[in-house]
Amino acid sequence: MADTPQPSMYSALERQRAAHLQAPFDYAERVRLLKALRAAVRSRKEAFAAAISADFGRRSRHETMIAEVMMILGDIDHHLRFLRRWMRPRPVPADALFQPGRCEIRPQALGVIGVISPWNYPAQLALMPITAALAAGNRVMLKPSELTPRTSELLAELIQSCFQPTEVECVLGGAEVAAAFSALPFDHLVFTGSTAVGRVVMQAAARNLTPVTLELGGKSPALVAENFPMAEAVDRLVAGKFMNAGQTCIAPDYVLVPQAQRESFVRTMMAEIERRYPSLMQSPDYTTIVSDRHYQRLQTLVEEAEQGGARVFRANPAGEPIPAESRVFPPTLLLDTPADCGLMREEIFGPVLPVLGYTSLEGAIAHINGQDRPLALYLFDRDPARAEKVLGATISGGVSINDTLFHIAQSGLPFGGVGPSGIGHYHGPYGFDALSKLKPVFKQARWHSMGLLNPPYRRLADFLAGFLTR
Ligand code: NAD
Repeated sequence: MADTPQPSMYSALERQRAAHLQAPFDYAERVRLLKALRAAVRSRKEAFAAAISADFGRRSRHETMIAEVMMILGDIDHHLRFLRRWMRPRPVPADALFQPGRCEIRPQALGVIGVISPWNYPAQLALMPITAALAAGNRVMLKPSELTPRTSELLAELIQSCFQPTEVECVLGGAEVAAAFSALPFDHLVFTGSTAVGRVVMQAAARNLTPVTLELGGKSPALVAENFPMAEAVDRLVAGKFMNAGQTCIAPDYVLVPQAQRESFVRTMMAEIERRYPSLMQSPDYTTIVSDRHYQRLQTLVEEAEQGGARVFRANPAGEPIPAESRVFPPTLLLDTPADCGLMREEIFGPVLPVLGYTSLEGAIAHINGQDRPLALYLFDRDPARAEKVLGATISGGVSINDTLFHIAQSGLPFGGVGPSGIGHYHGPYGFDALSKLKPVFKQARWHSMGLLNPPYRRLADFLAGFLTR
């Protein structure tokens, strides 16, 4: 059976668990592991840029530096800075009846964490969950994506070079290996990928009662308020949408603009796209689509919308031939996209942006709430009362106001979806807590009143029970 764990994966897990039980990582060990990871990533930053670019066809080197290497190193530094504080027992006041007893919460390593990562940010989404897991004192097994094989090889090499197999282990393979991996009895499984595969992963984990963190996707809306400066909204939306050619879990999936501004919005956005990417074939800053299958999927989605009556605007500032084999998918804007076509139902996950018009804020909110709960929401509005209204009336994994993407880069904010866009959170203290057992401990005082409530119950117990249930 495809989802039966392979013996070697089992034994790797058992070895890690035995090592954990014998010698759980203390503070010094965790710092050593995080520093080793930091040094290994730093020394391979150009290797990551090259491997990811080779896997994609072309991936902007700057995007790899900013959205992978910088994010990973910043995250490790944040963990190193606060780890001692997060590890400390957290005193909690005991309930009045139980004083002078004392309570505390002791974060404790769970054991062995499984991590399954996707291809779109293949270094960041493998190494940030590993950072959280190691900081919380766990051992880790990683299964990176088969769609970015050179990066996965590099991750395996990095892991081998700086960790013992009993500390961190990397398992390579395709969907069958991934399915078997997700059936291993981990102490927690962190999965990043699509909602469809997330469902399957959760079912496999349920057989072992393995708790999961599911970092999934969805259709993240952007909403531009009536009097918000258009050039500013366009500047931030182009940044968030066309980074990694839209292959970003929290990329704006579609944008809602006031009905009367739709045409000028598309014109302004096209001009900005053409300014940033003067030649799509030549620009090293414009990333290609990861595979022919993904390219074809986007092509089919846009053609279906066009046949359904959508007006399609494809950027090609240099007027150059853009062959399908290049997997350069031109930034594409759409007006009048039919509501029932694939582009409006599925997560787009590419450089294609339907621009929808709204006539009232209530209507725009109703549109957002008519879809699955998204991973992110972007609001462009300087009116605090209106922004408050949108925040209160919608629910999403995270929000950036007057910008895109940047809530993910804040170490102090939890990252994760809600409902179909995900379960659980990580980043900073939230990842540390998610991958720890927060063990509640009650310590009885030498002198206490609990003996007054022992059988045989007499008048004092009657009095106390009466008083406490008054
Ligand atoms: P995917 O779900 O196809 O694959 C992700 C991982 O799951 C891969 O490592 C793959 O090998 C593994 N996998 C495949 N079949 C499996 C199975 N049956 N059991 C267990 N594992 C299996 O996702 P993808 O195409 O790599 O990534 C794109 C999706 O991921 C998008 O939906 C995107 O929104 C989402 N995503 C979410 C986040 C986030 O942080 N929330 C980040 C990046 C991507």
